[in-house]
Amino acid sequence: MSHPDPRNYQPAGDLLGGRVILVTGAGSGIGAAAARSFAAHGATVILLGRTTRKLEAVHDEIVAAGHPPPALAVIDLARAQGPAYFDLVAQIQSSYGRLDGLLHNAAILGERSPIEHYDVGTWHQVLHVNLTAAFVLSRELLPLLRAADDASVIFTSSSVGRRGRAYWGAYAVSKFGVEGLAQVLADETRDITRIRVNCINPGGTRTAMRRSAFPAEVPDARPEPASIMAPYLYLMGPDSRGFTGQSIDCQ
Ligand code: NDP
Repeated sequence: MSHPDPRNYQPAGDLLGGRVILVTGAGSGIGAAAARSFAAHGATVILLGRTTRKLEAVHDEIVAAGHPPPALAVIDLARAQGPAYFDLVAQIQSSYGRLDGLLHNAAILGERSPIEHYDVGTWHQVLHVNLTAAFVLSRELLPLLRAADDASVIFTSSSVGRRGRAYWGAYAVSKFGVEGLAQVLADETRDITRIRVNCINPGGTRTAMRRSAFPAEVPDARPEPASIMAPYLYLMGPDSRGFTGQSIDCQ
């Protein structure tokens, strides 16, 4: 089956109607834009993040726009232990009985520093939030993803997760890990489930993370999160059935 260039994808208005999609880091930046965009295309979104007021603001915007009311999951991925994950799974199971989409988007930058001086505690924290939490969440949610007709899992990579660059430390290494995790999970689910698993590299995008990584950059030098959504919609919707194990660029 041939697939279009996801960057030029033109989604139907009701592309995600009836789908239940969980977005991590949904309170700001690219995650908030993805949640709004999925909801605008008909999905019920579960907004996962660590800051309640940010999640509530995205929730209220989605409701005010007349889209399906989202659910909130306030979880700090740096600290969450088993019970937080078990509660989340139980709530999705009882409310929806399945999960059609999972966007792993939450991440932290850590510090920009040479390996020789990189703080070990920061290293652990970045690897935990960016990689280990995505592994745990995927592991716990797989039974609900399997219960959907054609579930889509998207991991969020970065150009420094494909080619290492000086001073990107644990962030770059975590994104190499994310690419690897996505490949392993795609291979394990290929042919024997209806789950597809892919990576997206958003490219430089105007968010708080971009500002802290490149403080001297002119703010409008990079696109707004809302303008890079075509590949996210393509991978979340039914037109990407059979597309798995890929890592694609938004820009
Ligand atoms: P932001 O920093 O703007 O947003 C990150 C989100 O992750 C925030 O909502 C944040 O919540 C959430 N988050 C961070 N830590 C935790 C935690 N412990 N538990 C729960 N949620 C948490 O980043 P972007 O929107 O720019 O990045 C989104 C994704 O895109 C990331 O994976 C990033 O690595 C990737 N990316 C971004 C690029 C860019 O140029 N912007 C380029 C390449 C990749 P809170 O707001 O409450 O802190």
